[in-house]
Amino acid sequence: MIKADVIIIGGGAAGFFTAINAAEKNPEQKIILLERGKDVLTKVKISGGGRCNVTHAEFIPKELSQNYPRGEKELLGPFHTFMTGDTIEWFEKRGVELKIEEDGRMFPASNSSQTIIDCFLFETRRLGVDVLLNQSVKEIQKVDDSFLITTTSDNFSAEKIVVATGSNPKIWKLLEGLGHTIVPAVPSLFTFNIKDSRIIDLPGLSTNASVKVLDKRNKTVLENNGPLLITHWGMSGPAILKLSAWGARVLEPLKYQFKIEVNWLENISEEEVLDELKSLKYNYGKQTVLKHAQFDLPKRLWQSLIKATGISDTLTWAEATRENLQNIANQLTAGIFQVDGKSTFKEEFVTAGGVDLKEVNFKTFESKVCMNLYFAGEVLNIDAVTGGFNFQNAWTGGFIVSQNL
Ligand SMILES: Cc1cc2nc3c(=O)[nH]c(=O)nc-3n(C[C@H](O)[C@H](O)[C@H](O)COP(=O)(O)OP(=O)(O)OC[C@H]3O[C@@H](n4cnc5c(N)ncnc54)[C@H](O)[C@@H]3O)c2cc1C
Repeated sequence: MIKADVIIIGGGAAGFFTAINAAEKNPEQKIILLERGKDVLTKVKISGGGRCNVTHAEFIPKELSQNYPRGEKELLGPFHTFMTGDTIEWFEKRGVELKIEEDGRMFPASNSSQTIIDCFLFETRRLGVDVLLNQSVKEIQKVDDSFLITTTSDNFSAEKIVVATGSNPKIWKLLEGLGHTIVPAVPSLFTFNIKDSRIIDLPGLSTNASVKVLDKRNKTVLENNGPLLITHWGMSGPAILKLSAWGARVLEPLKYQFKIEVNWLENISEEEVLDELKSLKYNYGKQTVLKHAQFDLPKRLWQSLIKATGISDTLTWAEATRENLQNIANQLTAGIFQVDGKSTFKEEFVTAGGVDLKEVNFKTFESKVCMNLYFAGEVLNIDAVTGGFNFQNAWTGGFIVSQNL
């Protein structure tokens, strides 16, 4: 039996951040980190296309928390203790400079996730954290005041344990055994598969749009806006990814078969568009409708949408009937598309689901149902939209656990 004061299960972002900060806070504590694989931090390595999108330049706790479809309410308090500014300072103090990209995403200045891994490995070595590889945890028992942990090769015991195993069904099962409720996992952060003649020839085209998800009665169940990217398979970009994250639980029972309504002009209403089209009819009567894109829409998209209304290629604004104008306004602001399945976004598969947040004290990230059991990272039912927010959850949770062990 190998004994420690604290055992951290999971050698990912959350596990390492917890271990380093805990060892720094209480140098006399014996801390063991158990990782099932032969390498640690494998997700950090591949994250952000190999660059690791460490966090996001959003410095107001309330606004930061709004990027978490699951965890928004619970993370607000913790963000007042440790959030993006603290993350930047933490890495800077350890010689890792972060840079901000135009869209707010933050990466190591080196543009390499290895910089983060090197920093974590250096810190755990410096602080004497025992990082043990090939230790897949099979069993967790609580006997009196101790946790007994059985891995594929050894037995461990500790008074306090931290579970930082990410989205892992086997560990969730063990946690159920300790009295926790697990919210079933469903995919989050995916793109929509759409086969439609209006977009089939436009992969790569991006424009700002507003998108609604409709139910069977054509009622809006979700709505979001922002850049929309047309892909070879359908639609992606922040507007769609945000819908997939916020709608993770709504879209799964629909088996990813549903209709969306796209306003390609984002904030302009059908009535406003119709007024503008009428003025085009009177002021630019000789112009061909198809040739001259309006409302700053990309020309190829304009032409594709105009063709979808069925008007002839040579029709001028003067010749356009009331019905033609109405159809154009409708196509521009309320085009209906059938979604038929989903695809992974840049391999960045995120799942919604995990330890029920009601059973966790977010002042300490300790379990409310099993004393001295702590959680950090994706093992909890917390997930975010893309942009560095998922790692920020791991840093915030890990830091707060480390201060309360
Ligand atoms: C391709 C990809 C790219 C991503 N890019 C970004 C990005 O740029 N920015 C961002 O914010 N988020 C990104 N994410 C999401 C981010 O990686 C996760 O939110 C984050 O890694 C969660 O950290 P974690 O420590 O909770 O879990 P993980 O990183 O999954 O770590 C859990 C660890 O626990 C170990 N483990 C599991 N079960 C056991 C067991 N039984 N015994 C022992 N060990 C066990 C695992 O092997 C693993 O090492 C990306 C995700 C993917 C898949």
